[in-house]
Amino acid sequence: MAHRITLIPGDGTGPELAEVVRDVVEATEVPIEWEMAEAGEAALKKHGTLLPQKTLDSIRKNRVALKGPITTPIGTGFRSVNVALRRELDLYACVRPCKLYAQAPTPARRVDLVVVRENTEDLYAGVEFAPGSPEAKKIEEMADGKIAKNAAISIKPISEKATERLVRFAFEYAMQHKRRKVTVVTKANIMKCTDGLFLEVARQVAKKFEGRVEYEERLIDNMCMQLVLKPQFYDVLALPNLYGDILSDLCAGLIGGLGVAPGANFGTETALFEAVHGSAPKYVGLNKVNPTALILSAMLMLRHLGQVQASQRLEQAVAQVLSERRHLTYDLGGCATTREMGEAIIQKLKALATHEISS
Ligand code: NAD
Repeated sequence: MAHRITLIPGDGTGPELAEVVRDVVEATEVPIEWEMAEAGEAALKKHGTLLPQKTLDSIRKNRVALKGPITTPIGTGFRSVNVALRRELDLYACVRPCKLYAQAPTPARRVDLVVVRENTEDLYAGVEFAPGSPEAKKIEEMADGKIAKNAAISIKPISEKATERLVRFAFEYAMQHKRRKVTVVTKANIMKCTDGLFLEVARQVAKKFEGRVEYEERLIDNMCMQLVLKPQFYDVLALPNLYGDILSDLCAGLIGGLGVAPGANFGTETALFEAVHGSAPKYVGLNKVNPTALILSAMLMLRHLGQVQASQRLEQAVAQVLSERRHLTYDLGGCATTREMGEAIIQKLKALATHEISS
């Protein structure tokens, strides 16, 4: 039976990427029935909203979605469609594997780590107060001189519940994917309440996995330096939302840039697969951006669907194209178009399938 998947092309360079990725997934021969859905600028023009209810219903029904990037509009009441989607669907764990498949424009030689980012709270909760607002004034009073007059204020909520499920997810992910170690990253020495709670809960969760998965702690500033100098020492990283966001771009840089960094968001009911990168507005319509990040996100989706052989074949096809360096987009030093790089991956997939049949 075919897997029914919600496909959201997104906006900006999203639609041109989604078209290529759809062809690549079809070349894996996994039976998939795509249900098209809109979000972002396309949805706003057609339905008057950036995130139509129909799109949310489609994801809830199918439980799996593949999504192109979506531009965050400036000056509307909407914080971000991406943040709203994660919140609406309670996609609490954001998983971003960073693997160096072949030599890339990066000094790193060996990188194979996974960023597991909390997706629902922290400074992304959207609790902000403008300077001089009654709420800001009230907080200013409570802060007893620690906040300057007329400061803008953002609140950083970290809860035991959200932390527990995120860290447990990171450990279970490590077990499931035969990974050795989980490193929990905070700034608990300074943010004693919020990051302090994250760390305390992480330690309790880690105890339950003792003897099965190694546990270690790092401070976020030191972690950034460690990752640049010796990324090969790290495996699974579990972090609060904002640090996770920043660190995943750093890790994308270690493997050649945003063009090759895939991602997935998991909740208890649904999973949404998307690249780390955004809509790259300056390249819209040029057929120029790298499709690898979204193709590898689709590879993670196939793995999630239980299509292990097809996902491994797709990963191998991507690795071959990256290491041969004949069909690379501009960001990796090549001059292939989005479509040409996608076609090269399709050809590799076909060759690998033929080889499997004949051997
Ligand atoms: P961006 O990721 O779109 O671009 C950052 C840089 O990376 C640019 O130089 C861009 O050209 C390059 N880049 C991005 N994707 C690439 C690809 N596939 N191949 C080659 N190069 C690529 O980030 P931005 O410019 O800060 O954001 C643009 C818009 O996207 C904003 O509205 C932002 O809010 C949104 N955004 C969306 C998502 C998402 O949909 N999940 C994620 C991040 C940003």
